[in-house]
Amino acid sequence: MSRIAYVNGRYVRHADAAVHIEDRGYQFADGVYEVCEVKDGSLIDMTRHLDRLDRSLNELEIAQPMGRRALVAVMREVIRQNRVKNGMIYLQVTRGVAPRDHVFPAATVPPSLVITSRAADPRKAARTAEDGVAVITLPDNRWERVDIKSVSLLPNVIAKEKARRAGAKEAWLVDADGYVTEGASTNAWIVTAEGSLVTRPAEHGILRGITRAAVLDLAAREGLTVEERPFTVEEAYRAREAFITAATTLVMPVVRIDDHAIGNGQPGSIATALRTRFHEVVERVG
Ligand code: PLP
Repeated sequence: MSRIAYVNGRYVRHADAAVHIEDRGYQFADGVYEVCEVKDGSLIDMTRHLDRLDRSLNELEIAQPMGRRALVAVMREVIRQNRVKNGMIYLQVTRGVAPRDHVFPAATVPPSLVITSRAADPRKAARTAEDGVAVITLPDNRWERVDIKSVSLLPNVIAKEKARRAGAKEAWLVDADGYVTEGASTNAWIVTAEGSLVTRPAEHGILRGITRAAVLDLAAREGLTVEERPFTVEEAYRAREAFITAATTLVMPVVRIDDHAIGNGQPGSIATALRTRFHEVVERVG
């Protein structure tokens, strides 16, 4: 069965799916995106993801490509046509196609919308979570508006590649004061010796992760103490546990940061429990 993509109003073979060379996403990274988990055929936390998409579009003054009901119908159709039971769905909206010029094109230029979906094996992710992952730390050299989920991801791409070359799964980005902001494509968490969850406040310097929000809900339900405050790399080295969160990785235990084993070097019990219970607090649509 061939994969199908939705591109500007049409369902096309993934292998043939293309946008115009003057799409502003291609030329200027002038666009935003969302990634939503698909579990047992349902969209996980879709409302929060689409709310964040609306916010990203509003912040950049990019028009909505279509109303929410229509968008959800297209998302469902892409999942159906690709027969994805477990995996992810990717949405990208750019400022559309216009002759190359930095300033925004006329408001009559419609935004471009691309939606793809891909299956993933949950057992493979479960095996990775049993071992935990390593992260490295790097200076955070991104722009200030990382609260917008923009496709302008070059610093993130370079950080991720450096992590891969160092044998790690993720790079934790560190601000000028030595505090961890977030991962290249995940939010960063530690657990203190006293068992408190610590993660940076989402007001500034990080993306307000949807998985992060769900973990905060879960932590509240479980009666865990949460401290939304910045933490340094040194504090992370000494943490009892560490983990990362994102729609594609869910809660993933971190067992090494740079050359430091975290805790006893095994996935921590709190991170593991949060991973196991994660889907108890999320919204399922479809
Ligand atoms: N931080 C960054 C920079 C990301 O790119 C992502 C996801 O792509 C996240 C955090 C996690 O966000 P979410 O939980 O909504 O997937």
